[in-house]
Parts: sequence; C-alpha cells; structure tokens
Amino acid sequence: MNFAVIIVAGGAGKRFGSKEPKQFLLLNRKKMFEWSIIAFKKVKQCSQIVLVVPQYKLNEMQKYKKIYGIDIVSGGKERYNSVQNGLQYVKNNIDIVAVHDAARPLITETAIKEVLKSVAKYDGAILATKAKDTIKVSKGENSIFKTIDRNNIWQAQTPQMFKTNILKKVYLNKISKNITDDAQLVENLGKKVILVEGSNENFKITKPLDFILAQYILKQRHYDRHMKRNVYKSF
Ligand code: C5P
Repeated sequence: MNFAVIIVAGGAGKRFGSKEPKQFLLLNRKKMFEWSIIAFKKVKQCSQIVLVVPQYKLNEMQKYKKIYGIDIVSGGKERYNSVQNGLQYVKNNIDIVAVHDAARPLITETAIKEVLKSVAKYDGAILATKAKDTIKVSKGENSIFKTIDRNNIWQAQTPQMFKTNILKKVYLNKISKNITDDAQLVENLGKKVILVEGSNENFKITKPLDFILAQYILKQRHYDRHMKRNVYKSF
C-alpha cells in the first residue's frame, strides 16, 4: 500500500531556545529535518514526501526539492495548520497519509514499516511508548489530585498514519486550538486508531539536552553500521 508523508517542520521551536528553529540546525552533518526524509526514503511504499516549512524559509529550502525529490510547502501558525497545508499537496491516488514531526530525527525504517502494517487493518495507527514513570494528575498548582494506572498510559509519537479519506475529512472541520496531534482528531470522529509500540529513541527534540543525546545516538548508529554490529541495541 503506497503512502505519502507530511513532515512538519513549520514550528518556531521556542522551547529549544535557539535563534534558528531546531529542525534546521546541523545534527551530525545534516540538518535535523533531513534525517526524517532519509528514513522515509528507505521505505519503498513511500511514494510522496511533503516537507512543511515556515513561509520565510521557502526560498532557502528549494534546493532540497531537487536533492530528495520532495514537495515543499509553507506551514501555518499552529501545528495543525501546517498539517492542513501539507495535506492539500498530497496526490489524489494515495491510500494512506503519514504525519511525522521533523523534530523526531531518530525515526527508523523499521518503525515506519511497523506503523504501515497496522494502518492497513484500522482507520489509523500511531507509534507510541508505554509510560515508564508513575503518573500523577495535579489539581491547582502542584498538589496531587490523583495517581492513575500507568498500565494504560501511552505517550504518542509520530509517525501517525491514517486512511487518506479519513484524515482529509477531519481536516475539513473546524479544529480547536489545543489539538496537539492528528490521532486526536480521528479518535474524536469515533474511528479506530491503534497504538504501535515504538522505541524511546524516537523522542522529540525539545530541549538542548535532547539534541546532545540525538548526536550521540546517530554517531553510535553510524559506528555500528560501519562495524557491522549493533552494540547500541543492547543498552
Ligand atoms: O511544537 P511541537 O514540538 O509539538 O512541534 C512538533 C512538530 O510540529 C515540529 O517538527 C514542528 O516544527 C512542527 N510544527 C509545524 N508548524 C507549527 C508548529 C509546529 O510544522 N506551526
């Protein structure tokens, strides 16, 4: 089943604190967003890549169109505006649309294929990890309201994949401001979205420490490939 991926790189990355949005910083000799493109290009069913960037970056990004054979479109104020813009460029004959954060450069070909396998059977499928810590719900400022059973708590990641007609349908509706992922919109329609257990390695780069960790992991992956072994996996 062929799919298109919308890689959203249209954010300002305020929490990261750099002048240049984090997804355009050099991370082990490539810009952060390039790592996601490289991972998706390894999956043969991926027939279109749409990269969403801030409007002021459009000219600067044109060269990547040729390098990777991708479409580049401008983003919007909120993440969902960026997804909405990208969705308009998805070709008509595409069965499945994936949405992926450019801020998750450690995504792997294997994880993408796992989500793809699941979305074939459901309306949507997303990569997620099980909560490791005990989860508290607060009331007011810092006082604990309750502790919830972590066995049913998952942390959503990307890619998130959906049947194209379903995702297009939800994006026709008005979207509330506090929507932070696409699965939420599809769930609200009463559709079945399945959780695919992924790896903590696919974390979102939010703070400078995440960037340092990503540098280390990419370096280690490069070394393992060179040595034809996978020491890192055993950590
Ligand atoms: O803000 P957050 O970390 O949740 O952003 C996740 C992804 O969405 C990032 O890759 C970011 O560049 C992208 N984004 C976007 N357009 C926005 C806001 C965020 O493409 N307006």
